[in-house]
Amino acid sequence: MADTALMPIPGQVDPVTVPREVTPRADGRVDLIGLARGQIAELFAEAGLDAKAAKLRAKQVFHWLYHRGVTDFAAMTDIAKPMRPWFAERFVIGRPQVVEAQHSSDGTRKWLLRTADGHDFETVFIPDADRGTLCVSSQVGCTLNCRFCHTGTMRLVRNLTPGEIVGQVMLARDALGEWPKGRMDFAEEDDGPEFDEHPAGHYTADGRLLTNIVMMGMGEPLYNFDNVRDALKVVMDGDGLGLSRRRITLSTSGVVPMMARAGEEIGVNLAVSLHATNKAVRDEIVPLNRKYGLEELLEACAAYPGASNARRITFEYVMLDGVNDSDEDARELVRLIKRYKLPAKVNLIPFNPWPGAPYECSKPERIKRFAEIVFAAGISAPVRTPRGRDIDAACGQLKTAAAKKSRAELDRLAEEKQAALG
Ligand code: SF4
Repeated sequence: MADTALMPIPGQVDPVTVPREVTPRADGRVDLIGLARGQIAELFAEAGLDAKAAKLRAKQVFHWLYHRGVTDFAAMTDIAKPMRPWFAERFVIGRPQVVEAQHSSDGTRKWLLRTADGHDFETVFIPDADRGTLCVSSQVGCTLNCRFCHTGTMRLVRNLTPGEIVGQVMLARDALGEWPKGRMDFAEEDDGPEFDEHPAGHYTADGRLLTNIVMMGMGEPLYNFDNVRDALKVVMDGDGLGLSRRRITLSTSGVVPMMARAGEEIGVNLAVSLHATNKAVRDEIVPLNRKYGLEELLEACAAYPGASNARRITFEYVMLDGVNDSDEDARELVRLIKRYKLPAKVNLIPFNPWPGAPYECSKPERIKRFAEIVFAAGISAPVRTPRGRDIDAACGQLKTAAAKKSRAELDRLAEEKQAALG
């Protein structure tokens, strides 16, 4: 049976291939990561706690999960010791499996991760002097085939769940070793000896390395809207990971019908993969433009809830040699931004090549000239320094190793499998 099926995305008109449902865990336990406090309380009530106890335990567990990063119920010292196995028998605190962890010479880190049902995806951490940004994936593969993007050459395998999206943040914080250490302030139900080892007053969330999140990894977040929204709400919850909405950016290639909902229901910063200033070129680079054209897209940007000069919309613009990098392109970009009165900044991204890519990166002097024209019009236009190129972690380079197998190799494997089946 084919493992793809057309499924409409709620609230919009695009039929998008969403091939598989998530396979439940074989042991029947439920993974709590990605769930909001209310959902955890519901599960606890379904498992047998009365409503009041379920609510209290959910509050405690939520804090342990997302604020302290513990992965074992046995470590939850404000829950009575005899009660902890009750949770462990019914629930798990999951993390995506790390298949490969790579470290770039510039400090960028990339993790190849695997879902519990065996699908690979990637997450990238980019440290800077004043911030640390995690580039989070929303889908395994992508339907959109942007021509400059390596992920776009993969087919969509499935949407990531809220747990798998939040799990990327949890895993990065594990790897960076930045969960708060020491004793918590609230009352303990169990004064076991292990508790006394931690002197009071050491509880701190200082020294965060992971300060920002960009939904710019694999996939189009607005084609996985509900899961991305639910995940980001957990990430923003002040009792948990507590990342401010101002430090989170959602990047879309222009799924116009979902943009207003993204602003209203998630409320994070918006980035748009623009990459071209006229229909012909954008149709080629970002094929979604054939469905939602530039004018529609820019109107949706102008109406984006919460956009202001203090919270500008970022336009991503990949610099492709001889394709979209002329002086005229730069002037047209300025004209469009002014025409739609957009509070905007432009990120100029030198193209990061990948094997078989149909483009080359613009020459440095061309990028400089382009930036000068935009900047002279009063619009911020920094040129992004490529990060993590040596580990294929740079913008547009993400593609999982499994999907990198050539067509011929995949065909050969399929034939071998067929032969083995007799
Ligand atoms: S740029 Fe984003 S939306 Fe376009 S193909 Fe790549 S992952 Fe998909």
